[in-house]
Amino acid sequence: MGLYGKIRCKTARISGKFAKNVVKLGKGMGKSFPGYLFLNIGSDDCLRELAKQPRIGSIIITGTNGKTTTTKLISLFLANDTSISYNYDSNTLNAIATGLLSDNIDLGVFEYGIRDIMHAIPDEVCKLVQPIGVVYTNVSREHSFVAGVSNPFNSYLKAKELLSAPMKRGIVICNADDPRTAYIGKRKEADTHVTYYGLEINMNDESSNTDIYCPLCGEVLNYTIKYSNHRGVFRCSCGFERPKPDMMLTELSKDFDQWTVKIEGNVFNYPTDETVPLNLTIKTPAFGLYNLYNLLCAVTTYASFTPTPENVENTVKKVSKSLDLSILPPGRFEIMKIEDKLVGMGQGDNGDALKANVQFMEDYVKGDLGFIYTTPDTGEDDIFEDHLDALISAKPKMVYVVPGRSSIEAAREYYDKISKVLDAEFYPLAYEYMPKRREKIIEIIYKSQYKYMIVTGCGPEHYMWAELKSELKSNSESF
Ligand SMILES: [Zn+2]
Repeated sequence: MGLYGKIRCKTARISGKFAKNVVKLGKGMGKSFPGYLFLNIGSDDCLRELAKQPRIGSIIITGTNGKTTTTKLISLFLANDTSISYNYDSNTLNAIATGLLSDNIDLGVFEYGIRDIMHAIPDEVCKLVQPIGVVYTNVSREHSFVAGVSNPFNSYLKAKELLSAPMKRGIVICNADDPRTAYIGKRKEADTHVTYYGLEINMNDESSNTDIYCPLCGEVLNYTIKYSNHRGVFRCSCGFERPKPDMMLTELSKDFDQWTVKIEGNVFNYPTDETVPLNLTIKTPAFGLYNLYNLLCAVTTYASFTPTPENVENTVKKVSKSLDLSILPPGRFEIMKIEDKLVGMGQGDNGDALKANVQFMEDYVKGDLGFIYTTPDTGEDDIFEDHLDALISAKPKMVYVVPGRSSIEAAREYYDKISKVLDAEFYPLAYEYMPKRREKIIEIIYKSQYKYMIVTGCGPEHYMWAELKSELKSNSESF
């Protein structure tokens, strides 16, 4: 880099850091504005230089579901052992650059969401940031239309794969139970170390009957165990099979609001270049199978990148003691006692997320179930197909169909399809009158004859789900 280039990078860095200090004082836009400024003044070369800031390196977390929770958990663990900079709930290079504008850090921990190949530059991000870790939570169908353009699943998976494609060092961490992330890992093994995590517990989701196709050859995969939707122990006639996990969740016992899990295995630690044996028993909030995957992924990532692997057991114990549901996003699925009813409520935007909510609720349902389902929008038929599978698997006595997005017409069409297979009622409530929509949902809960109610589907995280939950809770206290 020439003198001019160096001056330019220095100016970019000073401006970015100045902006970071200023936005710290105010609210909002702090996650990406300093990085935006940096990238506008500096060139790609400047970012490549900036990416060398963390002494050990940077870790990037991606996937369809669970990215934010996993990133938060990884950060909580690592911050105990070393100095880190992190950024979650963000989907841009600006946000990553903002995180890198920190002095004196050992590790950068960044979430990077990839909706499709058009709106993301995954391989560019990898080349510029040169991560020492890329972490995959899972890959499921979502956002079948992005900005009005169809987003086929294959190119969505390809976009996810590209984030780690240029990596020649460090660790790629993959969910062994998810054939899509296992496929990414398998293809990466020739280039660099790949660590797999997965469940080894006795459980079978018998209601997942949808065919899952081999990412390698396109044949239908054979499953000996299904944990949830496409996750399980699979094999294909072409030879592709579920890799053996290095880190495993081997025991799970559930109390009403607390779960105990055992995590064990051997994990390769990047800073010490050694393989570390681990055996941990952890108490967690009752937060669903999904979050067990997030926890397992976070412990695996943490153990892979901490400079002091001898601390892992103590740190995980210490951090998990203080864990509560507030670590999860505001639209999280929660189970609440409302008078004599048990209500499970929370966002389930894609088929996989909705299925996770249904599975979570199953443990608690001891009688007839009423299902308030909030629909996807126009053109989201494949999300609806996945939703319908999960709806049927919940075996509800009645489905109350409410639009989750803006189109009432689309909601009516989805209702027509549901009513062919399940008893259903339709409530055409407009998006423009969201408070009315929420009020009606709460009224349905109270008036329904069923003691067990589940409320899930599409809808804006704060405006609908977080509000709905807080209104239902405050409503119940007034009785
Ligand atoms: Zn195959």
